[in-house]
Amino acid sequence: MEKKQLLLRALPSVDELLREEAILKLLSQSPRKLIVDAIRAVLDKKRKEILEGKSQEVQKVNILKAVISEVRHKGKNHLCRVINATGVVVHTNLGRSLLAKDAIAHLVEVAQYYNNLEYDLEKGRRGTRYSHVEELLCELTGAEAAMVVNNNAGAVFLVLNTLAYGKKVIISRGQLVEIGGSFRIPDVMARSGAILKEVGTTNRTHLYDYEDAIDEETAMLMKAHTSNYKIIGFVKEVSLKDLVSLGRKYNLIVYEDLGSGNFIDFTRYGLEKEPTVQEVIGSGLDVVSFSGDKLLGGPQAGIILGKREYVEKIKKNPINRALRIDKFTLAGLESTLKLYRDEELALREIPTLRFIFTPLDLLRRRAQRLCRGLKKQFTPEELIITIKTDVSKVGGGALPGLALPTYVVSIRPKRMSVVELERRVRFAEPPLIGRIEEEMLYLDVRTIQDEEVKLIPEIIKKVLRGDEKGN
Ligand SMILES: *Cc1c(COP(=O)(O)O)cnc(C)c1O
Repeated sequence: MEKKQLLLRALPSVDELLREEAILKLLSQSPRKLIVDAIRAVLDKKRKEILEGKSQEVQKVNILKAVISEVRHKGKNHLCRVINATGVVVHTNLGRSLLAKDAIAHLVEVAQYYNNLEYDLEKGRRGTRYSHVEELLCELTGAEAAMVVNNNAGAVFLVLNTLAYGKKVIISRGQLVEIGGSFRIPDVMARSGAILKEVGTTNRTHLYDYEDAIDEETAMLMKAHTSNYKIIGFVKEVSLKDLVSLGRKYNLIVYEDLGSGNFIDFTRYGLEKEPTVQEVIGSGLDVVSFSGDKLLGGPQAGIILGKREYVEKIKKNPINRALRIDKFTLAGLESTLKLYRDEELALREIPTLRFIFTPLDLLRRRAQRLCRGLKKQFTPEELIITIKTDVSKVGGGALPGLALPTYVVSIRPKRMSVVELERRVRFAEPPLIGRIEEEMLYLDVRTIQDEEVKLIPEIIKKVLRGDEKGN
């Protein structure tokens, strides 16, 4: 008989495997269906390999190993923690902002117990979900009214749809931003039913460009924060103050999509100028929106502030229901906002701010600690380990062009390529995400939390010495 036929015959049956000791043990821990599916998948793969001539033997132990590994893989949460060693503080792909301890405790409470999400405890009847943060937002920013939705993209859509449907919105060409993930101002505007009227040029827009474009169809003057790029050189942008004056003169709504949105004046801590939300409100504009989870450091949310008459209209837009904020977000947001009543507390407790402002000295010590931990595990014959100075980015479409001095620990294995190391640490538990530069894996300690420092040598050890995902 042909060799392939013999191999196929040697494959154990599903029932036979289900009677194996190792599988019986697995059955006491995992759902039967998951295990049966895993067995089928492993056998199918093996069968295919045999037919293609890629497999020359059938060993039950290896099949059992593959089944166990498959079941373990399927049993793991797909959404899971990772160690962010990229140094990018607001990393859109890695979940943006981490929450402060108070915020986490608050959302756990709300998840575990019934709550007054839409119940007015004073009046004993139905209330609104915005009430939990509206006053706080007004207190912190000086705004007349506030509301919150699912995210800032939703906020931009809702503002335009409510206040400029079928009308023209004038915006500078230099501000037609794309944030990534298909959020582009012109596209959102089109979907909202507002009509885009772009004025000026990419690098220069004057007040008269806006004024010349105003007609009876115009409803709004809009400004979008260029959160993720900078135009430098021969540039001119109209200030918000001048736009507000122009809006007054022609009775037009002035709206700014502020993108990130922050309550703290970063220049006081040595960073470049980003307008604070309070300053933007102070300019007298009508509506502003920004994200909850960028520089603000809260949960994913879109915050809308402004004049009462407009905010009330936005609240009443029926589409609002489709963009509404959930109770976990509200809990996390309320607790985060409360920390801003005391700037020092906010800087200490909100991870996004803490990471941005970590003193260089502390970063150096963290890098040294990581370096020592690695040197304990590896000889220079196994792994080359170096500490270097580098720069981290804030990320998440915030503070473009800002480079924060930092320390990285760079590693290069002697008996494995850096590309392979980078791939394997991504499969570790928890996955470790760094970046390859100059044939080394760079681990920026800015975004590595203190308690994670000791996990990294363990991860690298498993990856270099064990067979973790070495397939
Ligand atoms: C980030 C950003 C958005 C989108 O905000 P999300 O909270 O991600 O939905 C919109 N506009 C600008 C200018 C941004 O920077």
